[in-house]
Amino acid sequence: MERSRRASILREMGLEPVWKLRGAQAPEPGREDALRAPEAPPAGEAPGRVDPGLGIPGHDDRAGRILRMDWQQLKAAVPQCRACALSASRTNTVFGVGDENADWLVVGEAPGAEEDARGEPFVGQAGRLLDNMLASIGLKRGANVYIANVLKCRPPGNRNPERTEVEQCSPYLQRQIELIRPKLIVAMGRFAVQTLLDTDASIGSLRGRVHRYRGVPLIVTYHPAYLLRSLHEKAKAWEDLCFAKRTLSGL
Ligand code: URA
Repeated sequence: MERSRRASILREMGLEPVWKLRGAQAPEPGREDALRAPEAPPAGEAPGRVDPGLGIPGHDDRAGRILRMDWQQLKAAVPQCRACALSASRTNTVFGVGDENADWLVVGEAPGAEEDARGEPFVGQAGRLLDNMLASIGLKRGANVYIANVLKCRPPGNRNPERTEVEQCSPYLQRQIELIRPKLIVAMGRFAVQTLLDTDASIGSLRGRVHRYRGVPLIVTYHPAYLLRSLHEKAKAWEDLCFAKRTLSGL
């Protein structure tokens, strides 16, 4: 990417000082080790298995049906979904957007007001930051990147997703991941991270290592909406994206 354009993107992200420190971007201790020896994929993983990590208790029929869908069926099923109460308050479902053969998959939490109105993920303020974050590592929405959320419907008032909502919605995300077969997943924010990794651990404790979701390398970072409120964490998100890029190049 042209240098001046990259500089202006980083300025938008509030990362100009970080860019200036570029030469000093040695990996943090432990990071390269994580790259060389990523966590092993979970034992006994079988294609099509319902992943307990997604909070689905066993092979229930609904999940099983979703996990056998092709893109067309999946895209038709989501707008008709009435599996949880969010279907009553949504304006639009927000399926996901981007390159269906992407190497990169970005997973966020749930649609907000603008996403609910437009039916597309990350189109509000957090989305603009996400676009800048992607641009800072040479990526663009729709080109080798797919963007999806854990929940396909907006929780009223942008409240946190509830466990049952995540459980009901997770098969859709799981099937999207199976169909995209990304080389790398970037999980943004607590709900994406905790859902995909089946953990209660904090983002801070999970950053800087390569995790696995059903064998796919997964990098953890902060949610753009959180970064809008916590400007001092933006530099860490930038490190995470650079780490993700190095990880993907090293695969
Ligand atoms: N936050 C998310 O996690 N996803 C969106 O689509 C928008 C905001």
